Amino acid sequence: MHSVPTTVPFVDLKLQHQPIEQKIAQAMMAVITGGDYVLGQALTEFESAFAAACGVDYGVGVACGTDAIALGLQACGIGEGDEVLLPANTFVATLIGVLRTGAKPVLVDCEANTGLIDLIAAERVITPQTRAIVPVHLYGQMVSPARLIDLADTYDLIIFEDAAQAHLAEREGYRAGSIGAAAAFSFYPSKNLGAMGDGGMVVTRDEAIAQRLKSLRNYGAPKKYYHTEIGTNSRLDTIQAAVLGVKLPYLAQWNQQRFEIAEQYNILLSPFKSQGLLPMQNQVGAGHVYHLYIVRVMMETRSSKFCPVARQVLQENLQAQGVETGIHYPIPCHLQPAFKFLGYRMGDFPHAEQLSEEMLSLPMYPGLTEAQVNRVVGALSNALAAPIPVKLSA
Ligand SMILES: *Cc1c(COP(=O)(O)O)cnc(C)c1O
Repeated sequence: MHSVPTTVPFVDLKLQHQPIEQKIAQAMMAVITGGDYVLGQALTEFESAFAAACGVDYGVGVACGTDAIALGLQACGIGEGDEVLLPANTFVATLIGVLRTGAKPVLVDCEANTGLIDLIAAERVITPQTRAIVPVHLYGQMVSPARLIDLADTYDLIIFEDAAQAHLAEREGYRAGSIGAAAAFSFYPSKNLGAMGDGGMVVTRDEAIAQRLKSLRNYGAPKKYYHTEIGTNSRLDTIQAAVLGVKLPYLAQWNQQRFEIAEQYNILLSPFKSQGLLPMQNQVGAGHVYHLYIVRVMMETRSSKFCPVARQVLQENLQAQGVETGIHYPIPCHLQPAFKFLGYRMGDFPHAEQLSEEMLSLPMYPGLTEAQVNRVVGALSNALAAPIPVKLSA
């Protein structure tokens, strides 16, 4: 029988686990029988292995990426009275992490072609209180390490990377997580390296920062029942570390698959540029780990080559054809109701605002087949040819 084209989900996490299911089950069972559920051996082993993969000496596992940012910055000495630069175009967790330290977040616009923090704009808002910059290697593409280091040296800033979307990404000979004082990773299931639940890690080459983090994640106790500061309870579970330890050796090949999928999209989508579909720019070549693959649906009001179909209509049409897409992110941080108190308003970060209206994330994950990528692009082509959303039978 001729196979019926199936739907293409936005993400399918089961695919990557199927071939290694037995290994994962064994590793979990070893934790179950071993009994060291908190701060156990599998955690220590994974911390070393992941830090080494990032090219640094220390890894400290925490409960999630948000905690990795908050506690990591705190361990770097960031707190009240400090100003911290970060992009307006990021997942809100970056901003929440900064706010939790007590420091004042200073948002910066992004570049329109990459969505990454605009370092020229960042330089303009530096004051004597600016202590740190949190570059976000968004979508899997690193912010230029050379330019970051140059800026940090000039203004005596701490670089703290948000590498939650950039496991093993590279640029200019640097690996994500190795540029500055420390870096935060998330192991949320859909990240390039994901646990089976929440998880995060701070990596650093600074032993003192690592020690302080070990205390901060454990109620502020450098040794049992002796508390030197108000810490919290934020540890990466041993069982999650065991899962991640099994998955880590496959990460490079999964990233490679993502890269190949991106190349296929790039080729297939190039004819659509004239119709106002513009892939986000890859400026780092093979170092891009494509956490997400994003196309910009150019708007008539902003571009001479605009898309005849509005993004929402396009997304609904794709959905009707069985192709799931996402938007990362629909509302920039400075326009979220929760952060109104920061005093920003519409118009403050035009590129971030523009991208929030243009971006569309296409399916991108290890295990997505060439045929499925073709189907996504075919569906896009249909949607552009028939601008009115049509109800298709499932
Ligand atoms: C996922 C993510 C985080 C937060 O990680 P959690 O593990 O979900 O807390 C922070 N920053 C960015 C850029 C992310 O994508």
